[in-house]
Parts: sequence; C-alpha cells; structure tokens
Amino acid sequence: MRVGIIGAGQLGQMLGLAGKHLDLEFTFLDPAAEPPARIAGPVLRFPFDSHAGLRELASKVDVLTYEFENVPVEAIAILADSVKIYPPIEALRHAQDRLYEKKLFESLAIPVPAYVAVDSEEDLRGAARSIGVPLVLKTRRLGYDGKSQILIGNESEISAAFEALHRGSLIAEQWVDFDREVSAIGARNAAGEVAIYPITENRHIDGILRTSRAPDASKDVAEMARKYLTELLLRLRYVGVLAMEFFVLGDRLLANEFAPRVHNSGHWTIEGAVTSQFENHLRAILNMPLGDTSAISHAGMINLIGSLPATLSNSGRYHMHDYGKEPRPGRKLGHITVLADSAEERDCELDKIRKKLTAQRFFIRTSS
Ligand code: AMP
Repeated sequence: MRVGIIGAGQLGQMLGLAGKHLDLEFTFLDPAAEPPARIAGPVLRFPFDSHAGLRELASKVDVLTYEFENVPVEAIAILADSVKIYPPIEALRHAQDRLYEKKLFESLAIPVPAYVAVDSEEDLRGAARSIGVPLVLKTRRLGYDGKSQILIGNESEISAAFEALHRGSLIAEQWVDFDREVSAIGARNAAGEVAIYPITENRHIDGILRTSRAPDASKDVAEMARKYLTELLLRLRYVGVLAMEFFVLGDRLLANEFAPRVHNSGHWTIEGAVTSQFENHLRAILNMPLGDTSAISHAGMINLIGSLPATLSNSGRYHMHDYGKEPRPGRKLGHITVLADSAEERDCELDKIRKKLTAQRFFIRTSS
C-alpha cells in the first residue's frame, strides 16, 4: 500500500520508519529543502496549499494523511473525491479553531477552562471582568507549542496584549492553576475498533513539551481521560491517532485541546509500548486491526530542544532519536526515551539524563 503524508517533519519521519515493517511506501509533501522525513520516502516539494502539489501527491497514493494540524482545510477538501483522507477533515476543522474545539468538548459534556471569544479590545475587557485575571489570550487559529498566546497578569496589560495578537479572532481563557498536565492518546480504525494508550503525564516550559512520563499512576484520572477521549473519537467518526491534552485539578480534568495526529507526548510508545502510536496511526488509516497499546515498561521521554547532547548515546535503556534537523533556539531536534522497571527508577533515570544534559556542552551539528 502507498501512503501519502502532508508534512515531512519528525512526525512524518517516525510514521515512515514505523511503516517499514508493514511493507508500506511513503510519499511526502513539504516545501522545506531537507525535511526530516526525506529518509523515509520521496518528498514532493510544494507549499502545503498548492493544488498542483496536493493533486500530484493524491495521484501517487492509496490513502492520504497529515502530520500537523495547520494543513489548509480548503486545499485538501478538493481531494476528498479522489483519495481517502484520514483523519477526517471535520476533525481537522475543529482542531484548527480553539473556539470550535471548546464548543465540541462542551457538546460532549467534557469540562473546559472558562473562556470568552474575543474580537475587540472591549470583548477582552469584558472577558477580564467575567473570567478574572490572570487570563491567557490566544489566537483562535494557527497557534502551537505556546506560540501566539500571551498571559495577561492584570488589567493594565490588556491593550498591549490585544494589540500584539489581534490580527485574527482571539479567545481569552481562564489561567488554570493546575496540579499537573496529562494527555490521552488513542486510535480508531474505519471498522470502529478503538485502542487507547496508558495515560501520560507531561511537563511544559514556556508552552513547549519538555518531559513525558507513562503510565500515569492515577487510576481515576486515567479512567476519566479514556472516557472523554473515547467520546471524542466516536463523535468525530475518527480514523487515525488522536491526542487529547488535559489540565488536572484535584480529581477533575479540564480539556485544553486535541491534536488530530500522532503526538509528541506519545513518542515513548516507540520503545515503551507493544505497538507505537505511529504504527497504530498507519494501521487505523489502512483499516488494519489495531496493535496492542499496552506499556511494556515504565517510560520517560525528554525532548531535545535547541541543541543535541554530545555524548549521550543509545544503550539498552536510553533511546536517543535525532531528527536530523538544523539546530535553532527553541526547535525540537530529537528526544530521548528511557525505559525502567518502576516509576521510581524511571524518574531517577530522567533526573540523571537531565543532569547530564545540563552538565554537557551540547554540540551543534553543522550543515555539512
Ligand atoms: P497550548 O498551546 O494551548 O497547548 O498551550 C501550551 C501550554 O501552555 C499548555 O500545555 C499549558 O502548559 C500552558 N497553558 C495553556 N493554556 C493554559 C491555561 N488556560 N491555563 C494554564 N496553562 C495554560
């Protein structure tokens, strides 16, 4: 079978590598000169909204998928009659707009932080009165990794924050003083089979994911997160892997957002689960039986951001992934997964890696 992937970044690369033993052929579409996924198949070099590029990609494959959620919906909708596109375009449409996304969660009785749609400075002042401060102002569309969002600590910051972001519609959200963050990742295939991974705990700094740990120990949180994820998968008649992110406050969950794709917080599944999220995404879109999502050990994942370590190499327990990207501040260049027999041992190994990463001078790969 031939799989087309819009986007050839590290998620495309890991999908391509996971597909090798399923005997799949991959073609990617990406405007970048040397994208990470080029090691997994040819890359058609076109902008993501190029009708010519998308048509050429569709003509070469049996099924089309995407590795990031800012794919232009209108552009791929023109292909809907000529090729199967999974996850469904409707899921993409909701994930691209934080207001639609929150309304979808609410329609499923999934709790979300208090929010107000903002189209004017007056709306934002109203939001500060109704939700209170601090609040976070976000663009409704095209935000990721904490980009396009500003924390408003008090009312004197309202004008500047609105001025900085108001090029499109916005949303103001209550700033949630959460205990921790978790994600739920699951797959559904066209036959309706659903498989959900153990829940993962995530730590972000400046809006970017730094560390994930799985399986999460709290049974109540896991049960609630699985229930919400299952409801979302069913409502969207979803096909593929989907990740949902939550804030945990005591015994409550508030949904932050969902991604209609494989997710950074599921990278640990490559070594830490029987079947990785990447393989299960491919199985789902090809309507194959889904693989076992059980964890085979305790797993921790650290993102390598901005630079790569000089000497941390792969061993039985450390698995380092280098995406082959040009180093740049704030850029995700790779990740390390560690496997352990217990949660305590995993946390201890993660601490050791963090210390090594801080102690080492990171090397900067040159472009030669
Ligand atoms: P997002 O781009 O919405 O996923 O935000 C990235 C990260 O910023 C989240 O994972 C949180 O750590 C933090 N964040 C976003 N929205 C809020 C909020 N309303 N309250 C507290 N933290 C938030």
